[in-house]
Amino acid sequence: MTSLTVTDITLTSLPKLAHGKVRDLFTVDDKTLLFVCTDRISAYDVIMSNGVPGKGAILTLLTAHWFRVLTSQIPGLKTHFLGLHPPQSCHLTSGEQALIKHRSMLVRKLKVFPVEAIVRGYLTGSGWKEYQSKGTVHGIEMPKGLQNCSAIPGGAIYTPSTKAELGEHDENITPAQAAKIVGEKYAKRIEELALTCYKTAAAYALERGIIIADTKFEFGLDEETDEVVLIDEVLTPDSSRFWPKDKYEVGREQESFDKQFLRDWLTKEGLKAKEGVAMPEEVVKATGKRYREAFELLTGKKLEEAMKEAD
Ligand code: ATP
Ligand code: MG
Repeated sequence: MTSLTVTDITLTSLPKLAHGKVRDLFTVDDKTLLFVCTDRISAYDVIMSNGVPGKGAILTLLTAHWFRVLTSQIPGLKTHFLGLHPPQSCHLTSGEQALIKHRSMLVRKLKVFPVEAIVRGYLTGSGWKEYQSKGTVHGIEMPKGLQNCSAIPGGAIYTPSTKAELGEHDENITPAQAAKIVGEKYAKRIEELALTCYKTAAAYALERGIIIADTKFEFGLDEETDEVVLIDEVLTPDSSRFWPKDKYEVGREQESFDKQFLRDWLTKEGLKAKEGVAMPEEVVKATGKRYREAFELLTGKKLEEAMKEAD
């Protein structure tokens, strides 16, 4: 794996349209973006000052893998993915090409629905907290007697939130409130697609030793065809909780493949939600190792092998 850690990207020939906590977006033309995943990592909505080497490639190649799996299994599903390589017309220098290699995706620029389409299959995190105090998850009544990390009886549920601006926190909303924000027709389609994508992915991952406890999808609108399109990253350790199936046990926290190690360290050090924190080498290494393990289990490939295939 490359030892180069990339936390900020500037491309001389492409204007930067926007940046999120993890990605930098560049305008290729009116309809197309170069979606570049840096090695930045955030926890509790705060970005660490150093990154995790390899993370950008893992997230990009894993997302591309999922787009292939999902579109082959879900009839009618459209995604924003156009390819892994920027076109020649972008005129990137050789240095810039090296910088974005394996971490960039050419995507359709779409109108983003300002709703986070969260799907939960298991009782954990804020869902578990709410259940303990009120017996509900996202306001939905749950049977008594469930434990920490129990599977949600009756199957996965859709628990949308608002999509906050950078630096703000997302807030839970009911599906009815989501319909007010994006319109009933689109809200229904978003919910249906989010649940179908989750169920398809959860079954696929389970066969490969990973439980997808919950995940977040984003959708955009193709204004020409009026279609709801799956966008952003999908089913990565940044957007999902992945648990190793062979270690799963209800009634306790799970050892996960995501940022849990980083979150636990921040909490232990009293650095939770502080700006500008640098992770020590051991946290960087342990986090990178978990991301890589999730990648390799889900794709059945070593990262280096997937990178070669992508060249
Ligand atoms: P989080 O993932 O926690 O919401 P973030 O929103 O800061 O954090 P990043 O992943 O760093 O996200 O940046 C990606 C940004 O690009 C998001 O704002 C996302 O909505 C937007 N985006 C994703 N796909 C498209 C697309 N096809 N067209 C336009 N914008 C997109
Ligand atoms: Mg994001």
